[in-house]
Amino acid sequence: MEVHIQKCQKCGSRNTRNILVRDEQQKVFVQCRDCQSLVARYVLSTGGGGYYHAGKGFESFLRSVEREVGFSSGKELQDQFENLGEEVDQEYEDLKDILGDRYGDELP
Ligand SMILES: [Zn+2]
Repeated sequence: MEVHIQKCQKCGSRNTRNILVRDEQQKVFVQCRDCQSLVARYVLSTGGGGYYHAGKGFESFLRSVEREVGFSSGKELQDQFENLGEEVDQEYEDLKDILGDRYGDELP
């Protein structure tokens, strides 16, 4: 088992926020609170583990499992990976717009 505490690749800060996005998948964008860079994006959709949210009940877990999409083939995964950088950058730009509309310049 490997355990890592994430830090920003740009400024080295460990001061990050998780932004949960639900569309056809569930995604977590990890953003640096100090320089606002994108640190990582996770897709919470593999293997039937669901999304466990501390303090939430079974219904919440069940909804997360229902949202999970099936496994992709190796070729599909490779194609997805090749487009991933661009896709994530675009998603992050869109997300910043959405967050700006909702929270203004001061994110919680
Ligand atoms: Zn940073």
